[in-house]
Amino acid sequence: MNFERRGVMLVIASPSGAGKTSISRTILAQDDNIALSVSVTTRPRRTSEMDGVHYHFITPAGFESMRRNDELLEWAEVHGNFYGTPKAQVEEQIAAGRDILFDIDWQGTQQLTKKCRPDMVTVFILPPTIAELKYRLEHRAQDSDEVINRRLINAREEMAHWDEYDYVLVNDDLEKSCNDVSAILAASRLWRRRQAGIGDFVTGLQQQIDALQTSKT
Ligand code: 5GP
Repeated sequence: MNFERRGVMLVIASPSGAGKTSISRTILAQDDNIALSVSVTTRPRRTSEMDGVHYHFITPAGFESMRRNDELLEWAEVHGNFYGTPKAQVEEQIAAGRDILFDIDWQGTQQLTKKCRPDMVTVFILPPTIAELKYRLEHRAQDSDEVINRRLINAREEMAHWDEYDYVLVNDDLEKSCNDVSAILAASRLWRRRQAGIGDFVTGLQQQIDALQTSKT
């Protein structure tokens, strides 16, 4: 049984290469009621990426204009590029009970937390070892050695924020991690405060008891 509720803002963060993107893609593919918040970025598009699907790729001037016009819910400079979450549609989707997945860094999570805490659930993904993190970064074969090295150094900074998240998991088994994030999402959908429609349901149940009592007398 489903009740009217606000959507979940599910934030998944991790250092680059910890498996966050694979986990996010699995969750998005297996669950119809959650959609990705497509960020804007000034980073060059990788060959595997599609504009409008993975990111909206924009120029630094375009980014600056969105930032100045208050069109971004949060934004940050990560690995030397700018990234931001467009405001448009987030509140509308959440109010309509549709869940949104945010793949953003710790700076963005802090900004969103200030604005939208009651709607948010945050998950931090850790790599099992640094050797594994390095291997994943290198075998993506999409970034230069310099970029890979910068991401490795930044992983240290990103990991320093692990204790700002609601849930923390070590991704040593992709299938298990996906199941864990699914379970977190399922539980978050059932939060009492999120289920606005359940009060009427309870009142209806009580009225049925009242009616039974009345019919006995
Ligand atoms: P990548 O370049 O590998 O796609 O992403 C680099 C980092 O930027 C990742 O940690 C990712 O979560 C983060 N990121 C992507 N989009 C956003 C965004 O809109 N806001 C913030 N704050 N970080 C983002």
